[in-house]
Amino acid sequence: MLNRRELIQRLSAFPLVGGLLGSVSFTSAMASPPTKEVPKRDLFKEFGVRTFINAAGTLTYMTGSLMHDEVLDAINNSAKDFCLLDELQDKVGEKIAKMVHSEAAVVTSGAFSGMTLGLAGILTGMDEKKVRELPHLEYTGMKSEVICQVSHDIAYNQALTNTGCRIVRVETAEDVARAINERTALLHFLHIESDKGKIQHEEWVALGRKHGIPTSIDIAADVPPVSNLWRFNDMGFDFVVISGGKAMRGPQSAGILMGKKDIIAAARLSMPPRGSTIGRGMKINKEEILGMYVALERYLNEDHDKEWKDWEDRLAHIEKAVNSVQGVTTEVHVPPLGNHTPTLRISWDDASVKLSDKQLRENLRSGSPSIELGGGASNSVSVTVFMLKPGQEKIVASRLKEELSRA
Ligand SMILES: *Cc1c(COP(=O)(O)O)cnc(C)c1O
Repeated sequence: MLNRRELIQRLSAFPLVGGLLGSVSFTSAMASPPTKEVPKRDLFKEFGVRTFINAAGTLTYMTGSLMHDEVLDAINNSAKDFCLLDELQDKVGEKIAKMVHSEAAVVTSGAFSGMTLGLAGILTGMDEKKVRELPHLEYTGMKSEVICQVSHDIAYNQALTNTGCRIVRVETAEDVARAINERTALLHFLHIESDKGKIQHEEWVALGRKHGIPTSIDIAADVPPVSNLWRFNDMGFDFVVISGGKAMRGPQSAGILMGKKDIIAAARLSMPPRGSTIGRGMKINKEEILGMYVALERYLNEDHDKEWKDWEDRLAHIEKAVNSVQGVTTEVHVPPLGNHTPTLRISWDDASVKLSDKQLRENLRSGSPSIELGGGASNSVSVTVFMLKPGQEKIVASRLKEELSRA
């Protein structure tokens, strides 16, 4: 426990400490009686849960991303008061909508629930009886089919079938015209696989317009570039979903559903606090709503060119270190769709480096500090730096070099 004099001495002796304590008002520090210092609990340690340096990327099973301090502050500060959930969603949604060029928006518990809720809104409209009937569509008069391209029908489309709808798969615009009938509720598009489909975004929206069917798009993992936040709203998709806990570094349990006013309003009928809805379990609390808002705001204000340059510099540091090992080759590429960030592919020939990619990943995982790498083909791993804390690229570089040169 420090007394006041020691505290002042320490503040002047260690500017960094002064900086950290800068938010504490000095008068209140002087006026309040000495308080017991609460030792910080390390709950990961208590549970024996491994923590690691994440050079792999924003993966749900690795808990996504790390929130910025501003987001954590928003969460902490808002945890100390009550408010009405709907009022908060109304006001935050209105602000978010302006930021992303949509008519309306709502913070959801991830992109996945955004898909379920957006479709639920289309199916039920403002009819509360229909809201209660979901996901049982038979004899309710609700539509029951969602059309999407074969390559866009990935596991996450379970979010759509959770409403009771079934997916109808198509390949061409003619297929779409043939598949549309009085049961068709939605034309759904998946940005990350857009290069694998025959129909591109604009044509998809045009098909929806032509046949009078709403269109949606899943862009869960598709910032950067930041412009994707509004690009598909501008293009005319009726609803758009994005994850909050990937590159935007909001709460991992949050996402945004944005789109047409009537769809968002109807989707809200299936959301908490309302019960008897398919969305009751997709609760998002006030702290996450505000954390998501602050993460979005911070992301929009970020100097993206500077950040990109920083990623390139840090990746170059790792590339240089591993390139010095005989038999190792490297290549930097940027996935054009999804996880759009500089990615280093490290490969080696097994004549010079006698180590499988699986073994290398395991060695880094079990080292200290533990490091997670991305996968690749055989004898290759991949590394991203966008989830590294400043300076961690040095540890990743030296551990990789050490393991590769030892083999
Ligand atoms: C991550 C992801 C989702 C799920 O997003 P959550 O925010 O975790 O619910 C959906 N679709 C795609 C393409 C994704 O990458």
